[in-house]
Amino acid sequence: MGNVEKGSLSITSENIFPIIKKWLYSDHDIFIRELVSNGCDAITKLKKLSLVGEYNAPEDEKYRVDVITDANEKTLTFIDNGIGMTADEVKKYINQIAFSGAQAFMEKYKDKASEDQIIGHFGLGFYSAFMVADKVTIDSLSYVEGSEPVHWESEEGINFEMSTGDKEGHGTKITLYLNEDSYEFSNEYRVKEVLDKYCSFMPVEIYYTNANAAKEEPKEAVVDEKKEGEEKKEEIKPVNNPNPLWAKHPNECNDDEYKEFYRHVFHDYKEPLFWIHLNMDYPFNLKGILYFPKINTEYDAIEGTIKLYNNQVFIADNIKEVIPEFLMLLKGVIDCPDLPLNVSRSALQNDGFVKKISDYISKKVADKLTGMYKTDRENYEKYWDDISPFIKYGCLKDEKFEEKMKDVIIFKNLEDKYVTLPEYLKKDDGSKEESKEETAENTEDAKKDEASDKEVKKDTVYYVTDKVLQSQYINMFKDAGMDAVILTHNIDQPFINSLEAKNDKIKFMRIDADVAGALKGETDEKALEKEQKALEELFRKVLNKEKLNVKVEDIKNASVSSMITLSEESRRMQDMMKMYSMGGAGLDDDMFGEGETLVLNANNELVKYVFDNKDKEDVNIFAEQLYDLAMISHKPLKPEAMTKFIARSNEILLRLTK
Ligand code: ADP
Ligand code: MG
Repeated sequence: MGNVEKGSLSITSENIFPIIKKWLYSDHDIFIRELVSNGCDAITKLKKLSLVGEYNAPEDEKYRVDVITDANEKTLTFIDNGIGMTADEVKKYINQIAFSGAQAFMEKYKDKASEDQIIGHFGLGFYSAFMVADKVTIDSLSYVEGSEPVHWESEEGINFEMSTGDKEGHGTKITLYLNEDSYEFSNEYRVKEVLDKYCSFMPVEIYYTNANAAKEEPKEAVVDEKKEGEEKKEEIKPVNNPNPLWAKHPNECNDDEYKEFYRHVFHDYKEPLFWIHLNMDYPFNLKGILYFPKINTEYDAIEGTIKLYNNQVFIADNIKEVIPEFLMLLKGVIDCPDLPLNVSRSALQNDGFVKKISDYISKKVADKLTGMYKTDRENYEKYWDDISPFIKYGCLKDEKFEEKMKDVIIFKNLEDKYVTLPEYLKKDDGSKEESKEETAENTEDAKKDEASDKEVKKDTVYYVTDKVLQSQYINMFKDAGMDAVILTHNIDQPFINSLEAKNDKIKFMRIDADVAGALKGETDEKALEKEQKALEELFRKVLNKEKLNVKVEDIKNASVSSMITLSEESRRMQDMMKMYSMGGAGLDDDMFGEGETLVLNANNELVKYVFDNKDKEDVNIFAEQLYDLAMISHKPLKPEAMTKFIARSNEILLRLTK
């Protein structure tokens, strides 16, 4: 019957296109995802019917979706051999549902600000074809035996025409006659790129064909035998993998598969350290794999990617509403079919269900890490340097995560061994452990005590931020049998700030902040005091620095003469100012006298000599040299000071020759 049915849809070009354009401006290409996934849906439906015996599939039936570009004709075609549609179904599902869906979408979002995007632009579906096409045709044949093929076409998505079609074989063929601005979608590379982005793991095999290339091929292959041509055809591979690893049960996956999947998806040829396979059916459906990537250097910005899928259809990368922010430092895939996608991002943010998903993921990650700490501490330590920035960031960002992780945070010490804070403190001083337990038992009292007693003893954790610059201090610590932890990453300063804030008894001090205090010997305080007064006066005079702080300390290691210490507070302040680039000219000198202290070792021969000969003329050269030596191992000398230091060193050598 050549009957043609015409109709108009309750959509006008004036009302819908400006709005769709606004929404789709940056992600024009999602129409490909929508049309391919509709084909997959149609096949999934048919498979289900076949399972329940409502459809008798021929044995050799191979379900597939085909995507065909024709750059000459400027068309893009999608074919599936799924459930198909009768004329009535086209009326219902396309003319009514798809179009009213688009209309509802439009009405919902026309007044919203552009930041309030809906995730992955869900909700437009079939209608998104009109983003890129002037004309769209549908040719469909229902799987129901004896059905009549139907042809549908629409220009601009406003009026439609339906007639009897000529489609053979069940399924649907949708052809887009691309508009002038969208010819790119008849280009092989462009379309393959989009298929790769959105369709890589859709659950049905998807094949791509370039109609123009296909026509040329026989010309080249004229001399080839037919058989070869046939073999070639068999080689054609789907563009997607319909059975992604995350969809399998963890028991069915081996390490090589996990690594291969990682390489393939993230194009990262460094092997991941380890991974977590999420597999949950209840109370919601969630599957995925999270990889801990290897970080090249400590200065590498860690930038992960979490790809979000909905039933194997790619939605978007790094959706912060669903995935806890700190997890975005990882690389991974998450497939959550239950996710409400047809809502705006801000609605998603306030969605209790989404919060549950996010909490679940974060809990799983913490479980994996704490489990590893308990049962495989060797590997946990091996990976620590790579994973610790991530863990520390997680602790700063997510209280529940921090709660779970706090006992398995480890620190590398001066012997390159890994210790927890309690382990460090125990080694440092057994008595400190006790005071810590008291805090835990009764925090209120501890706070009161602290308020009344300013000299409350803190558990000091000494740390190193630069093993080279701080090597002198490290050696002294080692000599004295003291330990310190290595904290070299950017995240460490905020992390220790937060540890201190959460535990008033713990105090972190950089190794050069209070060496004297840390390494004190047993000499009588009174004797030192006398020496201190005399030497302070002398050094201030010789160096012409009135405000110079001088401290004479009894340091066991007698070979150390002098050093500069900078109080932890002043240093943190300076670091902060540097970070906000407020530091600059004058800072060092102004700060001097407040934070920096010249420490002289009472056990050192040179210091003793200066003290014993403080009235002699040549003692000046000792004072100056001791000061410069201390300065040099603290930070680079200024040019003027450097010149003087070199001249003086030469003079000292000259004297040796006499
Ligand atoms: P959704 O897929 O979310 O339902 P769409 O606008 O993408 O919304 O499609 C509307 C409806 O049109 C589908 O639910 C389906 O019934 C029908 N449909 C679209 N494409 C196909 C197809 N390739 N084969 C069979 N039915 C289809
Ligand atoms: Mg759809």
